[in-house]
Amino acid sequence: MHILKSDYQVQVAKSGEVALKIANQYQPDLILLDVLMPDLDGFEVLTRLKESDVTRHIPVIFITGLVNVEDEEKGFLLGAVDYIVKPFNNAIVQARVRTHIKIIKQMRMIERLGLIDALTDVPNRRAFDHQVDVEWSRAVRQKNPLSMMIIDVDKFKVYNDTYGHPQGDVLLQAVAKTLQKSLKRPADFMARIGGEEFSVILPATDLNGALQMAEDLRANVEACRISGPDAASSSVTVSIGVSSIIPSADDLQPDFIARVDAALYEAKRTGRNRVCFS
Ligand code: GH3
Ligand code: MG
Ligand code: MG
Repeated sequence: MHILKSDYQVQVAKSGEVALKIANQYQPDLILLDVLMPDLDGFEVLTRLKESDVTRHIPVIFITGLVNVEDEEKGFLLGAVDYIVKPFNNAIVQARVRTHIKIIKQMRMIERLGLIDALTDVPNRRAFDHQVDVEWSRAVRQKNPLSMMIIDVDKFKVYNDTYGHPQGDVLLQAVAKTLQKSLKRPADFMARIGGEEFSVILPATDLNGALQMAEDLRANVEACRISGPDAASSSVTVSIGVSSIIPSADDLQPDFIARVDAALYEAKRTGRNRVCFS
């Protein structure tokens, strides 16, 4: 950690328990976490950090000698923001830390503007409403297709009842992260628009493209293989409604969103874990 001491205030913990204590007490901007520790392992520490309101938002970078893809995936799924494999290069560690500190500062600014969802760190309903306006006007002007998805976690109430509300929150974070990672273009925009509902806006994308994206998103959530809400579901899944429009000046935005919602309802009605369009 000596390589960071000149630029940051650094606190060192030699065990998982001490790390948790320090994190709670000081709420650092960033945590570098070794997977292998004498008492709790890094995954356990990360899980505990995510369970507490006080430490949930602190980004965690895993540092580890394990080079196993499954471990890396597990780390990301639990909510790590980055993963550095030992032996590491000092300049790379410094650069990654700098990047994450920069992201944190930007996030704080957006948070101050009230546009980020506190639980999942993705744009919130307010940001979504604004973005729909922007993209809708742009699509009218450029006569471009605009596509939208509404994504809803299946049987989330049962999931909460089975695993408890805090674990439900962790699931929402994992789903948000998976969806966000699945987006391909910089203009694609995702938000948490309600409890267990997310929306994706795809500018300049027609129905075919949107359906492909939606199927990717659906499959990526299922591929996480997070234990399902009940014995009948082997994995957590989502249902997705999709619609596409080349809006004219007479078209109404709420009608379009209602169509996306109707498609989602159809996906639920016909069995969940599927994509439907309207
Ligand atoms: P369906 O498959 O039809 O979507 O069923 P569902 O159970 O997912 O849908 P329903 O709308 O009945 O339940 C949504 C649940 O989401 C109920 C509510 O308690 C829970 N919920 C909403 N917001 C949050 C949250 O922030 N955290 C947690 N843990 N649960 C939440
Ligand atoms: Mg819902
Ligand atoms: Mg649901």
